[in-house]
Amino acid sequence: MSNCNRTYAINQIAVSPVLPPCEPRPANIDDYGIDVFNEDSIRKYLSKGIAEKLLATIEKGVPIDPAIAGDVAHAMKEWAIDRGATHYTHWFQPLTGGTAEKHDSFVSPVPHGQAVFAFSGKNLVVGEPDASSFPSGGIRSTFEARGYTAWDPSSPAFIKRHANGATLCIPTAFCSYTGDVLDKKTPLLRSIQALKRSVNRLMKCFGVPEDTPEVSLGPEQEYFLIDKKFYLNRPDLLQTGRTLFGAPPPKHQQLEDHYFGAIKPRIIQFMTEVEQELWKLGIPAKTRHNEVAPAQFELAPVFEDLNVAVDHNMLVMETLRQVADRHGLVCLLHEKPFAGINGSGKHNNWSIGYGKRNLLDPGNDPEQNMIFLTVLSAILRGVDLHADLLRSTTCSINNDHRLGANEAPPAIVSIFLGEQLEDIIDQIAKGAVSTSKKAGTMRIGVDILPTLPRDATDRNRTSPFAFTGNKFEFRAPGSSRSCAGPNIFLNTIVAESLDFISERLEKASAKDFNEALLKIIRDIVAKHRRIVFNGNGYSAEWEAEAARRGLPNLKTTPEALKPLLETVNQKLMEKYGVFSKVEMDSRYEVFLEEYHRKLRIEGEIALEIATSMILPIAATYYGRLSADLASAAQGKLKAGTAGLRRLADQVGAGIDRLDAASDALRKAIAAHNPKKTLAAMTGLRDVVDALELLVDDACWPLPKYREMLFIY
Ligand code: ADP
Ligand code: MG
Repeated sequence: MSNCNRTYAINQIAVSPVLPPCEPRPANIDDYGIDVFNEDSIRKYLSKGIAEKLLATIEKGVPIDPAIAGDVAHAMKEWAIDRGATHYTHWFQPLTGGTAEKHDSFVSPVPHGQAVFAFSGKNLVVGEPDASSFPSGGIRSTFEARGYTAWDPSSPAFIKRHANGATLCIPTAFCSYTGDVLDKKTPLLRSIQALKRSVNRLMKCFGVPEDTPEVSLGPEQEYFLIDKKFYLNRPDLLQTGRTLFGAPPPKHQQLEDHYFGAIKPRIIQFMTEVEQELWKLGIPAKTRHNEVAPAQFELAPVFEDLNVAVDHNMLVMETLRQVADRHGLVCLLHEKPFAGINGSGKHNNWSIGYGKRNLLDPGNDPEQNMIFLTVLSAILRGVDLHADLLRSTTCSINNDHRLGANEAPPAIVSIFLGEQLEDIIDQIAKGAVSTSKKAGTMRIGVDILPTLPRDATDRNRTSPFAFTGNKFEFRAPGSSRSCAGPNIFLNTIVAESLDFISERLEKASAKDFNEALLKIIRDIVAKHRRIVFNGNGYSAEWEAEAARRGLPNLKTTPEALKPLLETVNQKLMEKYGVFSKVEMDSRYEVFLEEYHRKLRIEGEIALEIATSMILPIAATYYGRLSADLASAAQGKLKAGTAGLRRLADQVGAGIDRLDAASDALRKAIAAHNPKKTLAAMTGLRDVVDALELLVDDACWPLPKYREMLFIY
């Protein structure tokens, strides 16, 4: 028997009962949204007039009337107290990638040593957290540390619970004293506004009766679950979220037996509790299943308004982590926690609508066909012109290990349309589609689009940006990141492209409308056709072909961040009022710095594990083998010594290589050389993983892949 922590962890898991820590009764649908200050609670706690005003802001984006803030704050507080809250917080999304909250209690002292619960309109509308310790990329110097959080009424306030209390959370935007943006929500809201304006303008060109533009998002969230007892024995997971060492197990995902497999009892208990929590928060968790890799899973909600969906995804990630902890599990949201098996993404299902009309639905009538084709060509144009910018929104040190690896979309941004649709745009480009006008109404002579039943569009899992029937699915974003970044840029580039089209359509006379439109679409398709690729995005041929087409292939974070500094990109973002040049520059700084800092942490912890955990174990084992050899020689044994000697030689050589590889890593870290650090980490990993297969299993200190991925 060994006394190593790893074996102890396995034994503990073996004897732990899988008890349901969750409520034994099934969730009640009436509890849906119970912890959200939603329409029901608004109507219950506010007078009719004020409720209507607030709802108009939430639903139609009418600017909030400052005069009602005091009443809304009072109602929110009463509601929150009835739901058990004692504290409130402005909940925001700084550039750290997570969410931030600083709690204040409602407690307010009154004379005679007593206190009441109070919450004013000002408390609701603005907060003044010290901004000095949040990343700003040089925008805000520490002497001007003030930052402001501003209430976002379009995302509902909600309650976060812990075992013995609760906090009212108010979604807010976060900016500096000078008004520069320090968060992810503000630019997202600006980009949504820009896109909606452009949608309105285009719909006007088509003469569609006035309606409300909508931008929707359904983010699919992939994640891993491992037992906490393993996690606690992996300093690399604890410090970086991914395993820096670990030999590939003989069986991993090659039998394809995990995807959509029966969900293990312990996991389904976890999922059930996650869903119950999310439903209370009004988050429409819908789909759950086993993913491709062992111990990998997915959760998908029903799509919602983009701003709310982004906030909800942040809450989904937090809920996954917290519920996992209660179940003795750890939820790994890292994009590539295990080398050699699938990583996790966040498929960004995005669409734009106008009232009930989905502009990405090909439709059955000629008008909808044309609107669809117009929006589609705008997207082709936008993505082709700014593929580098879209790519920049997906890069991070984590996602570098995923994008371009053999199971994830490549770092090249291209669009998948499916055969039918590709054929149609090719016909348009060739001029095969013609118009014929009937008096007064818009008519394209042929119904150019066959009805595309949603699920009949081919599935292509290798495309980073795929048309999937009535939406685009951007698959490159990483599992751990906020959805804000990709959508900020997607919205803006599409807004610009829609305007490009509207500007031309506005010049066309009513009688030439169809001709003009077809010409615009034809020109766009001809010019931007290169962005469409329906083949296997993981293949080496595609990389070569993409290079021939002149498509950017930005492989690593430092390269992929550069587009943020490009003048064309900065001008675009400035024109649409989404980012100023200063804000773009600062984001570049923040994300690059984050990359370097995280890389350094990875390098340092890899070095520490190699020298203080692996080397001593390998040395002890080597000593034991040497001693065994010596005593075998003394006993004049005939067999076994050759084998022992060979093993001792291999372990000895491993120790020498470990020493050399550690030294190389130490030097690369000291030299602040990211490329060399990455290479040295790979070198060190090779040595350690080889030793893992040599050294006595009973003494190996790090939980192995075959254990973490299969014992839970
Ligand atoms: P799949 O993995 O087959 O693509 P999922 O059901 O896992 O599909 O996820 C699809 C996601 O796309 C869901 O979140 C769904 O709500 C969302 N979605 C569906 N239609 C739209 C739409 N029109 N706009 C945005 N998102 C959508
Ligand atoms: Mg899916």
